[in-house]
Amino acid sequence: MGDSRTTTIGMLGTAGTVLTVEASFAAPASDHDRQVRVSGLADNIANQIQVRVRAAMANSALHFPHQSVTITISPAAHGLTGSAADLAVAVAIMSATGMVPAGRLTNAVLLAELGLDGSLRVVPGAFPAVTAARKAGFGTAIVAPDNAAEAALVAGMTVLAPSNLSGLAAWLHGQTELEPARRNPGTPAHPLPDFADLHARPRERRVLEVAAAGGHHLFLVGPPAAAKTALAERLPSILPPLSEAETVEVTALHSLRGRLIGGSTELIGHAPFEAPHHSMTAQALIGGGHSGGPGSLALAHRGVLFIDEAPEWRRHVLDTLLRPLERGEVLVRNANSTVRWPARCLLVLASTPCPCAPSPGTECRCSAGERRRYLGRLARPLLDRIDLHCEVDASSGVAQADWLELQSARSAAARVRRAREIAAARWRLTGESWRLNSDVPGQALRSARWRLPAKATKTADGLLRWERITVRGYDRILSIAWTLADLRAQAQPTSDDVDAAVELRLGYPIH
Ligand SMILES: [Zn+2]
Repeated sequence: MGDSRTTTIGMLGTAGTVLTVEASFAAPASDHDRQVRVSGLADNIANQIQVRVRAAMANSALHFPHQSVTITISPAAHGLTGSAADLAVAVAIMSATGMVPAGRLTNAVLLAELGLDGSLRVVPGAFPAVTAARKAGFGTAIVAPDNAAEAALVAGMTVLAPSNLSGLAAWLHGQTELEPARRNPGTPAHPLPDFADLHARPRERRVLEVAAAGGHHLFLVGPPAAAKTALAERLPSILPPLSEAETVEVTALHSLRGRLIGGSTELIGHAPFEAPHHSMTAQALIGGGHSGGPGSLALAHRGVLFIDEAPEWRRHVLDTLLRPLERGEVLVRNANSTVRWPARCLLVLASTPCPCAPSPGTECRCSAGERRRYLGRLARPLLDRIDLHCEVDASSGVAQADWLELQSARSAAARVRRAREIAAARWRLTGESWRLNSDVPGQALRSARWRLPAKATKTADGLLRWERITVRGYDRILSIAWTLADLRAQAQPTSDDVDAAVELRLGYPIH
């Protein structure tokens, strides 16, 4: 019996753990007594692995041993839901019984599900798993062919992708060589539509710029022809490119959802855009459940989550967004574990002003009550978190930008970037983790250190006194005013900034 240890990676949320798999044998007292025990995994997962490994070996003309087998996975990974340990379990058995030499596995991790026919099958999350392996000092990853491109995104890793167990056995015996997977040549860096196409829509462009600069959630209300989707999907193009660490984080989330499987694959270095449909379940929005992967909310991390036709969504589904938006992460509790995914995104809600949603040139048939009730379907706590309200009309569309507009789009992105830097530098002084103005709680904005002069906040103070806005609304107005000042690189918001912030918050002029 040779060295029977193999290595795989267990994923829990975005965190990968190096797992050692060991196989040992005992002669059974009788044929009846012959069994396989797997320790270190939840029972149902262990059973599924055992069934697949047995079938895969038998169908690859590799004989499963006539002994009692004990597989030990350490550290114990009872929260593991995936099947990525299959290959490591099979190879541990094969090498322990001397079916294959293990010399070529030094410094390698094995990461694939096994098909009953012995084929290597894809697993979600190959990118973060191989990233974790690289960090732990491993130099080779053995994965399924359709996981090879994303695994090869991890710098410094040799990725081998045999198509089946027999192919891997032949390589371990030194009978064949496997060609290391190459990183695909880059795909376009930013596949999303450009801000510059928002032809002659200065007001909407301004609102998007403020949302991007301060991280303020946004509500767009307008008729079907108002191109609300076109506006929302252009927001990522003025968000700053992701840092190296953010790129790895966002790419990991998309890998865990299985988005990078097969085909050509690049790191995601730009703010993502997710637009789930209103028929979506809470689980698909939040993540977890059968697929085990992150939902739309986490996939929009560092980018934009667009909720179109917001009143058409089931209320309990949208309500699931509240806590994660507040904490900046999604927590999903399963039977054996708690999974976390980061979820810091800009939320953009959109709606028609009424249920009949009149097309251009036709009149609305709804009563005043129907109109009020329609937007009233949205839960108050959710609307409270939306800083900016913008009415969009159908007259302005999207068209190819001319040179001037391209320049102004470039400068919008530059202003957003600079405003974010100014805000981050200011809030760093507090020692808190706030980076964007929308991160800063109202209490801090109203504190002696950051309070604005009474003449600057005169309008907002009046609205609060007359109860036209809530205290929370007042705080959001202060936060938006700081963003407006940052966009102009001013040290402090003026009364004009606060007044403009009031209009952005309410969505209509106050005078
Ligand atoms: Zn109507």
